[in-house]
Amino acid sequence: MKRLQNLADEARLTLANITDAATDLTVPSVRLGVTGLARAGKTVFITALVHNLVHGGRLPVFGAAAGGRLTRAFLQPQPDDAVPRFDYETHVAALVDERIWPQSTRQVSELRLTIEYESASYLSRKLGPGKLHLDVIDYPGEWLLDLPLLKKSYAEFSAEALSRARAANRAQIAAPFLQELDKIDPDGPETETEAQRLSGAFKTYLAACREDTHALSMLPPGRFLMPGDLDGSPALTFAPLDIAFDAAPARSGTFRAMMERRYEAYKSHVVRPFFRDHFARLDRQIVLVDVLHALNAGPDALADLQAALGEVLTSFRPGKRSWLASILTRRIDRILFAATKADHLNRTDHDRLQAILKLLVQRGMEHARFKGAEVDILAMAAVRATREASVKHAGEELPAILGTPLPGEMLDGKSFDGMSEIAMFPGDLPTNPESIFRPVESSSEKVTYGDPSLQFLRFRPPKLQRTAEGMSLSLPHIRLDRAIEFLIGDRLA
Ligand code: GDP
Repeated sequence: MKRLQNLADEARLTLANITDAATDLTVPSVRLGVTGLARAGKTVFITALVHNLVHGGRLPVFGAAAGGRLTRAFLQPQPDDAVPRFDYETHVAALVDERIWPQSTRQVSELRLTIEYESASYLSRKLGPGKLHLDVIDYPGEWLLDLPLLKKSYAEFSAEALSRARAANRAQIAAPFLQELDKIDPDGPETETEAQRLSGAFKTYLAACREDTHALSMLPPGRFLMPGDLDGSPALTFAPLDIAFDAAPARSGTFRAMMERRYEAYKSHVVRPFFRDHFARLDRQIVLVDVLHALNAGPDALADLQAALGEVLTSFRPGKRSWLASILTRRIDRILFAATKADHLNRTDHDRLQAILKLLVQRGMEHARFKGAEVDILAMAAVRATREASVKHAGEELPAILGTPLPGEMLDGKSFDGMSEIAMFPGDLPTNPESIFRPVESSSEKVTYGDPSLQFLRFRPPKLQRTAEGMSLSLPHIRLDRAIEFLIGDRLA
């Protein structure tokens, strides 16, 4: 049965890739996946990427733009009719006209940007102007973290989920769920009310782990936090149970059999279609990571983020014998991990932010014995909401940032109204990235989580400068051009 399912998937995927190839006959295309956990910055990144390419933004490290070879970039109808379109126009209007951050990603969406350029090589130029379709696929990182479930049985999923829930850093958050779990007899009769209660408690626990104070990342199943249109369906109403790894198969009619069936339904109705219809067709990938958010929450959040990045890498390069690998006809050949929101720090700290992300990813790469695709790591801000400044403190000049805090943001007991600009010293990231895993001792000798010397405020999007002719300039950024160069530079050579 499983084999048949794989064959059907394979046939459908091959067909999708042939269709992709057919539209490629005239114009080549790159399918770029943009992912990251909730609020990592996917929507802002795609909006800024498109805006800068369409409006000729300042992109000195992006070779085609810097060399004056970019003729024009414009939006065109996307190739997949059944995928929602990325709502670029609304997001730009929010950012540029209203100076508010756009509505975040909640589901998969797509946008096609067509780029016309002059080739750098004499020979290619003779063949006429070049054209490339950049198909941007935006999808929640939570869905990506679901892919490893495809190879896990319900017993394996349960064992892992419960060992995480009982670990020291989560046991307290998970207590209400674990109490509900204690009341359940897996071999007792199935009941919908119990299923809903247990699953509800499990979801509440996952949501609490994600809150700012904990900022944990490893929270599968992903749709429990981002349900989309399957909210309330049986496939999303299950929870892990205490069952032995080698237990005999569940008797039908039992609570355990019900949970197991729903877990399998989740895999076949949620995870597999995502894998087949979206993930398996990507050529390149950018993974956005809100490192500062995890740094703010402390060592547990960082260790969890590191584990999540390891899982992500495993999905990009499944083992040779896994069925994922067997139907992957297209292979992602470049992956960029980008620490977002670098504009929350002064320039002097950007390299340190990058070093921290590098440490987090490298451990994952070693763990997953990852090789094959080209991987790059950088710190960036897709939209730069601050400028550089320096502030005097105790006779010392400190590298600071200048920006307009969002209404309601607080600093030293003061609340901001979203109108006034301030200069602040956000603190320095550690020079030794390894130190991020050590709990910080506060002055009261109590161990606190999160480095109290770092303070991050959320700022409003920037006011766009206008030229003498009244044209508004493109959205400012930090190293967005480096990201674009790595992701598509070679395709515009
Ligand atoms: P998504 O859930 O991954 O789509 O996340 P968004 O792109 O909606 O970003 C979430 C929030 O992070 C935004 O509302 C902004 O407050 C903030 N953000 C994202 N990117 C940037 C950036 O480049 N600079 C700054 N200052 N804030 C950003």
